[in-house]
Amino acid sequence: MTPTDTPHGPLVDAHAQLAEAIEHLGADDGTHRLLATSRREMAVSVPLRRDDGTTAVYEGFRVQHNFSRGPAKGGLRYSTHVDFDEVRALAMWMTWKCALVNLPYGGAKGGVAIEPLDHSTAELERVTRRYTSEILPIIGPEIDIPAPDIGTDEQTMAWIMDTYSASVGHTVPGVVTGKPISLGGSLGRATATSRGVAHIALKAMALRGIDPEGATAAVQGFGKVGRGAARFLADAGVRVQAVSDVGGAVWAEQGLDIQRLGDHVDQTGSVDGFEGGGPVGGAEQIDPASIVTLDVDVLVPAAVESVITVDNAERVQAKIIVEGANGPTTAGADAILADSDVLIVPDILANAGGVIVSYFEWAQANQAYQWTEREVKDRLEERLTAAWHDVVEYAEAHSMSYRQAATALAVRRVIEAHELRGLYP
Ligand code: NAD
Repeated sequence: MTPTDTPHGPLVDAHAQLAEAIEHLGADDGTHRLLATSRREMAVSVPLRRDDGTTAVYEGFRVQHNFSRGPAKGGLRYSTHVDFDEVRALAMWMTWKCALVNLPYGGAKGGVAIEPLDHSTAELERVTRRYTSEILPIIGPEIDIPAPDIGTDEQTMAWIMDTYSASVGHTVPGVVTGKPISLGGSLGRATATSRGVAHIALKAMALRGIDPEGATAAVQGFGKVGRGAARFLADAGVRVQAVSDVGGAVWAEQGLDIQRLGDHVDQTGSVDGFEGGGPVGGAEQIDPASIVTLDVDVLVPAAVESVITVDNAERVQAKIIVEGANGPTTAGADAILADSDVLIVPDILANAGGVIVSYFEWAQANQAYQWTEREVKDRLEERLTAAWHDVVEYAEAHSMSYRQAATALAVRRVIEAHELRGLYP
């Protein structure tokens, strides 16, 4: 970033959180500057020959925020909202997330400013392969390992793996995670993030004395994270009263039938128009913007960043917010909610299940040995639970929010690694 650039969007929040952690830890100015800056950034243009013969050109990015604790790790996002600062913020949060759950990784993120729904599968394959070939010099199983995020999936990872492998002349399963099982993907990876979100939500409910049986929840986003989180919460007895996605929002007093809702989304592409049915009865269409202010026990934002803002924070009624998405709460909203009883479980803890099982997948690729699903689930829970206790204890010991505690713990670990390695030359 040039000194004249003014950060915007989620990068402002990421910088504010870092500044707070630096002050709390008493770290020096140079360390602050080092951690506020990405280690390596790449902007590429991604030309696409469309199916109709015309050419489109999209902006693509890969940002590697930090390598102090190991190779960089982070998702790849396909969305028209992608820009450099969003990717920078997401990469920085990946560094903290990996450190918080004690993975031997730094943080990275990638993005292409494209709407995947407007493209055929063949076009998405060409975009993915072209983007991969552009960023090829800076990725690799020991350099930077992409994974799915908004708008990308296991098929995207298979294309990246194939493009990378073709260029180096042999199959390299460890270059991506979130691959299909038949290509070396890990059992349990597809549901790891949402399983982790639900696991942490149940811990937060226990802490607040809320019995999941009959408790209520609202979930924003019904993709890889939101859909699974809704299902796991419903399985635990929680009434998931409201779910939204980019097309609309639905609500049912007795809780939505998540299986039926999933079938509806598979058929129509959105939760919009879901009429409910089954043992829990009918569903109503509601204003998607209202989902974050519904009167529920648990709110799970699992879509995009900056949805809980200074404009709606005062109207949040949930007792607990479990951040399935990255960066759903702005720093301004955080300050408002700090004066309330709302318990916010920050993204770098709540949604870390995905990167934990990505790490297991990478370890399995390196070992060329597949673990059982039971092993994956048990080790996931073990790591998440350890991080949960670290954060709760640190927050209590220092009278700070869970986000401040999680960020401080993570930043401290990154600084420690940086200091042990020293500065080269
Ligand atoms: P996805 O593309 O599978 O699903 C995104 C969902 O959000 C879709 O249902 C979409 O319709 C909805 N959505 C998009 N914009 C919306 C809006 N403005 N309002 C309401 N809904 C909206 O993406 P995903 O992988 O589920 O990722 C969701 C969030 O979770 C992102 O913040 C991502 O960075 C984060 N995350 C994902 C993973 C993972 O393993 N996939 C891991 C950690 C964090």
